[in-house]
Order: sequence, then structure tokens, then C-alpha cells
Amino acid sequence: RAGELSATELFDAYRERAAADDLNAYTWVADAAPTEAPPADAPLAGVPVAIKDLFCTEGVPSQAGSRILEGYLPPYTATSVARLAAAGAPLLGKTNQDEFAMGSSNENSGYGPVLNPWDRTRVPGGSSGGSAAAVAGGSAPWALGTDTGGSIRQPAALTGIVGLKPTYGAISRYGMIAFASSLDQAGPLTRTVADSALMLRHLQGADTRDMTSVGLREEIVLPTAERLDGIKLGVPEELSGEGIEPGVRDAFERSLQLAEELGATVESCKLPHAPHALSAYYILAPAECSSNLARFDGVRYGQRVEADTLMDMYTRTRHDGFGPEVKRRIMLGTYALSSGYYDAYYGRAQRVRTKIAEDFAAAFERFDFVVTPTSPSVAFELGAKTDDPLSMYLNDFCTVPMSLAGIPAISIPNGLSDGLPTGLQLAAPAFAENKLLDAAHALE
Ligand code: GLN
Repeated sequence: RAGELSATELFDAYRERAAADDLNAYTWVADAAPTEAPPADAPLAGVPVAIKDLFCTEGVPSQAGSRILEGYLPPYTATSVARLAAAGAPLLGKTNQDEFAMGSSNENSGYGPVLNPWDRTRVPGGSSGGSAAAVAGGSAPWALGTDTGGSIRQPAALTGIVGLKPTYGAISRYGMIAFASSLDQAGPLTRTVADSALMLRHLQGADTRDMTSVGLREEIVLPTAERLDGIKLGVPEELSGEGIEPGVRDAFERSLQLAEELGATVESCKLPHAPHALSAYYILAPAECSSNLARFDGVRYGQRVEADTLMDMYTRTRHDGFGPEVKRRIMLGTYALSSGYYDAYYGRAQRVRTKIAEDFAAAFERFDFVVTPTSPSVAFELGAKTDDPLSMYLNDFCTVPMSLAGIPAISIPNGLSDGLPTGLQLAAPAFAENKLLDAAHALE
């Protein structure tokens, strides 16, 4: 259109920025705009999108942050990526991530850590750290990530942007390289809540190629709310007190005040089983990963280390191809699932999961949303937690309960602590995305 940027000019402007990125946010950047320009009335208007590397993209490296998939070119494209493209959002690049989405700092990538654009000595969060750094750093207008226990919300919080984990089943997982299938969910990382709604509108929907996808029940509308009159916010004691850094807690208190000024009522609520969420998650997620990652055997995908016997080939390929965190999870998961232990670990963790979902259901009888800080701390220094997996796992303290319950949750910018961004998390009942986005918009 005359006087406006064409889709190709827009693409090229972002392409140049992405190619010049020095945060290690990308593992691949497109050479050029797609040859077919999107039609003038395409709803996403040719705005390019950065895609977390674990989404399969036909003919484009899809390595999920792992050396075992180095150079892997999938023969097909993930449904979510195809949907964005069909709505007019072309693929700008693939973003760096923790290996197979296991991590909270992006330091577990086989392709090097991603830097936080706010302070390059700090992590951007993970596992969708490349997507978050690309959007926060201005090299992508928006990005697609995945969240299994917090991997969209936590990096969004640590880089000062908006991250939405939709209801489990809202978006097809077809073509997403699996970590923990009962928890994995795709979602947008954007600068505004309106952008998040726009992306979700085109991403959501049932897909015959993912039997767990159901889509959302109503079309996503762009959020318009400016106030929160009549809205009841529940603040779970278990997720907002102990363990939250003082500066993060102060920022959280300020947001609760703002919510009250906008007309909301704020009361404390109880999620009695939430303190057990991390323990349950770190049984369930590794258990599912140990099974999902069995497919990387040197035969079907990516790298193979040649050896004299088949067993040797498997062992060496997996030994060389997987990083330390992935190996740790496979071992934990295999142990938890082994006969004789299954009931004590996996069975019990599943029961805790049900209890957590029941806690949320009870809270939503009294409250519209549950609100917490997204992450207990601001972005930490690179290397600060790499030798201490347990302290790394604590980053997911506030985000894992919602993942176990399968409910939608969004992180929005929540002001700074010591000059670094913090996030505010709002969680809603399953399928209440429109309401959630509206409230987030009012608070943004
Ligand atoms: N940090 C969590 C983990 O390491 C969550 C990761 C995710 O949501 N993909 O498992």
C-alpha cells in the first residue's frame, strides 16, 4: 500500500536485525522474505515471527537446542507454525532454547547460552530464552515458545515482555518436539497483551493430528478492558511469601495496589498442595521425557556416532548427543518409571497433580483469577546456578502449579527491581483466555 511499509520491506528490516543479533537468540535466520507475499488482507499482515527451535519447520534446521539433532531438517511443518504462516506471519528465524526445553536459564542449550538484552551478563530465563530475548531485544516483533512448567512465562518475566501459556489442548502440539507431552503447550511471547491475543486467535484450534488438541470454545477477541471493576483476585499465600526475593515481592505488592485502584478486590487465598507442585513436576516431566527421548537413537534423526555394534552405536550417539541436564532427566525418569517404583513415584505424583487441579478449582469458585509473581527472582548472572540443579528448579516454583492443572496463565511486565524486569502472573480457569487477556490488558 502506498506510503506504508510493504510486507517485504518489513520482513527485510527484521531479517537484518535478526542476522545481526548478538544475544545468541537465533540458531537460524531466514535468507529472504518468502517468495509469495501474504495477501493484502492477511490477518497477521505479513508481520514476521520468530519460532522456538523445537517446532519442526520443513527443510529448515530444527534442533531443539540439542547437538543430537544438529542439522536435522524435518520433512514437515508444525501445525502452529503453519497456522501462523497461513494467517500471513512468515518465519523470520528459529530461536535458541534449552536443550529439549529442559531448563530455566537457556544455559542448557547445545548451541551456547542466550544473553539477556537488559544486562548481557545475565540469563534471559528459559527454556524459551531465545524467543524472549529476540522480542525484548527488538530483533523480532513477536515469537512462538513452549511452556511445560514455565518456559514461556518465566523468560517473559525476566526480559520484561508478555508471555502466555494457554489452556492445555488449546494449540496443536503436532510437530513440536516433545519434552513432557501431558504438560507441553505452545504460546506467544509478545510486547503487548493485544499482540498475545492476536497470535492466540490464529494459533488455537483442534487438529486431527494431535488427539489432545481441543481448541478454545470461543473466538479470541482483542482485549479492551481498562478497568477491573467487580474482578476478584486471589493471592495464594503458598506462592507469594517465602522464597520470593524482596524486590520482586515489592513490585508484586505495587501491582496488587494498582489492581485495587482499577476496581479489583484483592484477597489472600489458599492452594494447599501448591508447595508440592515442584516435587510432582520433577517426577512427571522427567518420566515423560525419558519415554519421549527414546526416539533419539542415531537411526531416525540427526546425528549418529558410528560403532561396531548396534548397542554401541545407540550408546555412543546418546552419550555424545545429549547434554548433562537431559541425561539427568532421562535417568531420573527411567528410575521413577521402573517396575517396583512406579506407584511410589509416578503414581503418587499423579495424585498430587489431581490435588493441585482441585485446589485451583476451589479457588476459582471464589476468585476470577489467581495472581502471583511469575518468577521468585529477577534475571540472575550467567553461571550462577549451573552447578546447582535444585536451585535452578526453584525458578519454576510459581509457574509449575498452573502447568500441572492445565490452566491458562499469563505473565505481564510488573515493573523493575534493581533495574531489572519482574513479571506478574495471572491464572484463570481452563478456556477463560478472553477474560484472562482482558484483565491482563487492564493491568498492563
Ligand atoms: N524449567 C522447567 C524445566 O526445566 C520448565 C521447562 C519448560 O517449561 N519447558 O523443566
